[in-house]
Amino acid sequence: MLTPRQAQWARLKSTSFDILILGGGISGACLFHHLSAAGYRVLLVDKGDFACATSQSSAMMIWGGLLYLKDLRFPTVWRLCGSRDRLVREKANWVRPQQFRYLVSHNGHRGDLLMSTALHGYWVMGRCRGARPKRSTDFPETSFLKDQVFANSFLYEEAVVDTSDSRFALRWILEGQTDNAVALNYCSPLEASFEKHTQQWRVVLQDQLAEQRKSEVRAGVIVNCTGPWTDQINTQFGFQTPFKHVFSKGVFIGLPRFPNHELPLTMDVGDAGDCMSLTPWGPISLWGPTESSVTGLTDASSIKPADISYLLKELNRFLTEPKSVDDIVSVRNGVRALVVNTNTKANDSTLGLSRKFEVYSDTERPWISVYGGKLTGCVRLAQIATAKIRQIIGARSKPRRSSAVEQVGFEKTTYPGLSISVPTLRWCVNRELCCTLEDYLRRRTNISQWIPRGGLGRNNENRIYLTKISEKLPSAGHSAEEAVRLYESRVIDTDNVIASC
Ligand SMILES: Cc1cc2nc3c(=O)[nH]c(=O)nc-3n(C[C@H](O)[C@H](O)[C@H](O)COP(=O)(O)OP(=O)(O)OC[C@H]3O[C@@H](n4cnc5c(N)ncnc54)[C@H](O)[C@@H]3O)c2cc1C
Repeated sequence: MLTPRQAQWARLKSTSFDILILGGGISGACLFHHLSAAGYRVLLVDKGDFACATSQSSAMMIWGGLLYLKDLRFPTVWRLCGSRDRLVREKANWVRPQQFRYLVSHNGHRGDLLMSTALHGYWVMGRCRGARPKRSTDFPETSFLKDQVFANSFLYEEAVVDTSDSRFALRWILEGQTDNAVALNYCSPLEASFEKHTQQWRVVLQDQLAEQRKSEVRAGVIVNCTGPWTDQINTQFGFQTPFKHVFSKGVFIGLPRFPNHELPLTMDVGDAGDCMSLTPWGPISLWGPTESSVTGLTDASSIKPADISYLLKELNRFLTEPKSVDDIVSVRNGVRALVVNTNTKANDSTLGLSRKFEVYSDTERPWISVYGGKLTGCVRLAQIATAKIRQIIGARSKPRRSSAVEQVGFEKTTYPGLSISVPTLRWCVNRELCCTLEDYLRRRTNISQWIPRGGLGRNNENRIYLTKISEKLPSAGHSAEEAVRLYESRVIDTDNVIASC
């Protein structure tokens, strides 16, 4: 019998698509959903798992861009506030309003009056929706914070994704799947040529899990949503645009959740006017992110001991009982792909760079490149890209919605050391195109972020359990034991970085 993913592959042979989307992070995922709802035949492919890159490493905030007020980027904040409130309204099961607490420190960059004015201005720019910001001095988190560090605190309202950022992206994909909308992970384009006489792209796709498996598809438009790889893919297929990405690295550490840690806390850090958040997330408190400008993707993708040391140093300034590397439960690293004009010179700091997005349509061939983007602005980005596609290939009549994957609860199980239930591996393989152990532990569940050492446990105590459940994985040519060994080797790489701090 075919696995669900093999069944998706089989569908490629019989269908020609209006649009091929490259990249299943939040930008590609939300666009896939919108195009599917607009009646287009659409194929989304990701060379890895869906949301396996930046979209699994964010701060998970659906926010109006409070920090951008310091650079007076009012239009950006106005638009982001609108996008945030729209997601809260229209995707209430995926995004929920969340109170944040901004801590004003005695020797921070921003004083009491400035913060009060900024937060009220921010609230007004959010069309006065949500709770009005208010000052509050007595709060539960003071139990683990040094009281002499903070002068005051303000409560203000943002929103956060439910469960995780990777599941937020996955939900757009799963809900967007129909008979005419197919999504495939571990699949990437090998060759693409545009035939002028048919006005169609002919694309050879390769299965990254079975090298021999290739398939040829046809599509009217290709959309490059590969985030940090956008420039690389454009170069591979011979496209130039007026934009490029510069990269900045954002690292977080997860620590056992502090007692009484109820709300995300935002605090001033460093000397450059940056902020970090301490966010309660399941059994951990997530601290970060850093913001360091990097030269290339390889540099951006690797976590360095200095990143972790910096995070611990900044956090310990605020804590009554300092934390050490031995306390770390998990580490996550994201690459911010920030859009700039191609002639922009390299800059030491990326903090002041714009966080807007660009959707650029090639003038000669039907190829669209997406630059920048945030979880928060995903719907606006999808709408703009859909409008450009409509200009190229026209509109389609809207289908009656018939989601191939019903999003009604999931088969639940427990995991050693976790009090929150998670979907079973079997459910994720059969219903959510989960292919590897990492897909399951990192993106279908948050186990690898919540249980030490990627879910293996501090002393490898969960290894046997993992080997047992791995028997339910599609084999991909290796045994359950090999799947665990492969996963474990990556965990050991992170162990080594932490150990060398
Ligand atoms: C530290 C950090 C914190 C952040 N916090 C927030 C936040 O709180 N709120 C917010 O709104 N935004 C936040 N962001 C921004 C947000 O996370 C990103 O802008 C967003 O996730 C980018 O999504 P994307 O789809 O463009 O790129 P990605 O998520 O990187 O997706 C690109 C996809 O393309 C795939 N791909 C690459 N090459 C190919 C190929 N050849 N063929 C097919 N597929 C390919 C990759 O596998 C990947 O899945 C944060 C970012 C960082 C780094």
